[in-house]
Amino acid sequence: MTTRTISGLLRVAPGSTPDLASIDTAGTPGFEADKDAARDRLKELRRELTEFQERLWAEAEQSMLIVLQALDAGGKDGVIRKVVTAFNPQGTRVTGFGVPSEEELRHDYLWRVHANAPGRGRIGVFDRSHYEDVLVVRVNELVPESTWSERYQQINAFEAHLAANGTRIVKFYLHISRDEQRERFQKRLDDPEKHWKWSSGDLETRERWADFQSAYTDALARCSTDAAPWFIIPADHKWYRDLAVAEILAEVAREMDP
Ligand code: AMP
Ligand code: MG
Repeated sequence: MTTRTISGLLRVAPGSTPDLASIDTAGTPGFEADKDAARDRLKELRRELTEFQERLWAEAEQSMLIVLQALDAGGKDGVIRKVVTAFNPQGTRVTGFGVPSEEELRHDYLWRVHANAPGRGRIGVFDRSHYEDVLVVRVNELVPESTWSERYQQINAFEAHLAANGTRIVKFYLHISRDEQRERFQKRLDDPEKHWKWSSGDLETRERWADFQSAYTDALARCSTDAAPWFIIPADHKWYRDLAVAEILAEVAREMDP
């Protein structure tokens, strides 16, 4: 047993700047036992999350927003399949944010995000999010720096607004190494069952690895707040990734205590 919880170890303290390169993406902070023990623990946590969702729904006052961000092959889909499925789909909605549509581009970048925020009693999961507007948008220079540099404050204000109105926000950055990403890309190319996940744009993104790490560092440093903390999940080991996300969600669920 460790004295510090997984959530305490992985949370980005408000005002601090994480050093992504120094984090061991294959680490398992706060968990000393093996993969089998992790699987048992995950089962327990899933039961707890299922029960939490029922109470959240019945109470119909608070909502939970889970933000998932990662580089390609970082494991967002895996977290949705292994952890988010603990929640009853009737009260849960996963929203994927891709390249904005023409109509979305005619609005401010938070418009489509706010429209998909979870209502009372509901759980919302963002597969990518408004953070893309300071990540891919910044790295690919889709807007000038004078525009994206204003967005960190805007995002903090937006999230504080949701939080003040009953939405509990938890944000996960799934952190994988460049080698792990290469292996997962290779699997996608080799395995016909996984090929659909592959997109040629993924390689272009991979080439800008360093730029993405800097952009992530700024988003994590500038937008981890008490109202909406970021957690950096070492994600090379899928079993640890799922366990850590579930532990943190369960802890938040206990605090919300619907
Ligand atoms: P996927 O998650 O694999 O379906 O891919 C979605 C794609 O949409 C990714 O390449 C993202 O970088 C891209 N995307 C998401 N949000 C934005 C945005 N605001 N502006 C430009 N591209 C975006
Ligand atoms: Mg993709």
